Amino acid sequence: MKLLSPLSLMLIAAAFLAIPVPAASQGPIKLKTVVIDPGHGGKDAGCVSRDKKTFEKNIALDIALRLNRKIASAFPDVDVKMTRSDDRFVELEQRAVFANKAGANLFISVHVNSVERGTSANGFSVHVLGQSQRKGNDLYSKNLDLVKRENSVIMLEDNFETRYQGFDPNDPQSSIIFSLMQNAHLSASLAFAEDVAGAMAGGPIRHSRGVSQDPFWVLWRTAMPSVLIEVGFMTNPDDLAVMRSEAGRQGIADNIFKAFCVFKTRYDGSASIPPVEDVKPVVTPSGEPAAPAEPQHRNDPKDGVLYGIQVLAIGKKMDPKDPFFQGYEPMELKVGKLYKYIICPDTYLSQAKKSYTKVVTIFKDSYLVKVENGASCPVR
Ligand SMILES: [Zn+2]
Repeated sequence: MKLLSPLSLMLIAAAFLAIPVPAASQGPIKLKTVVIDPGHGGKDAGCVSRDKKTFEKNIALDIALRLNRKIASAFPDVDVKMTRSDDRFVELEQRAVFANKAGANLFISVHVNSVERGTSANGFSVHVLGQSQRKGNDLYSKNLDLVKRENSVIMLEDNFETRYQGFDPNDPQSSIIFSLMQNAHLSASLAFAEDVAGAMAGGPIRHSRGVSQDPFWVLWRTAMPSVLIEVGFMTNPDDLAVMRSEAGRQGIADNIFKAFCVFKTRYDGSASIPPVEDVKPVVTPSGEPAAPAEPQHRNDPKDGVLYGIQVLAIGKKMDPKDPFFQGYEPMELKVGKLYKYIICPDTYLSQAKKSYTKVVTIFKDSYLVKVENGASCPVR
């Protein structure tokens, strides 16, 4: 077979990964579009300061607009889009739909945190989509209140019960739907989240509550690297003073901008094709798996090669006895910051395929992988 040019390889990859491909004359893929999502708006004020004078929706919008201006002036080639640029109500689902339609390469949601009682909780936190760490049955874990509050915006929308597939933000069990998904952009989202946290630790609100994975609806529906930033606490006097000052809000926007620059450099330098092991299995519109892109692997075992079914890729180490695995004994692979869990490993591909037909009925997003030299890649 004649060797394929880098562009045709990219076209083939793009066909499978559904990523945009530039015209041949445009050279390598660059970050083109970023969507900034100021939380809440209109009839949804978000959280409110104790004296009822400051609303989350206004702080989020102001910081988002400042970030927009920074990016637009530094990178005229980048299209900066906002899910809202004034005080209006935007449905949660529509924010994600908007970003997906825009073909965004990065989604940044800006919010403000609060607590019901007390004033001591302070600092910023950065969130990417995932299953929260679980304590017993509490699927939301330590960020229960925060996740509930941010997700509960949908209750202000019409017909939310039907439109959000019966999802009830007040019912932790409801978030089980999040736990069964794989996030194709997890490693890129985590990398950006770490950069945001690193930049924000320089102040003006410098206490870091860290990066965590949580089941935020808006992040679930976006089809690109996505983070949600809680810039500070409305209920903490020091954080609030920063957010009320123009210099404070500018400082926060500047920090997010710094992280954006790092993300853009990494994105532009990588030709934007995500590492193959993070990619979801290819599914055609009919729901059938796509035809194999390459000849099937030979059926005879090869030294050091295993086939199995990847059921989870996540930014934290899981207990192999976790109920998530439904009694299967997972094999763990650590690749960069990701932990990958593979069940039913076998030296024979035919055997792994047999197991897969059963496993996929339980783990809907699972897929067959080949494990070699400590790395896994999908078997098409
Ligand atoms: Zn919020």
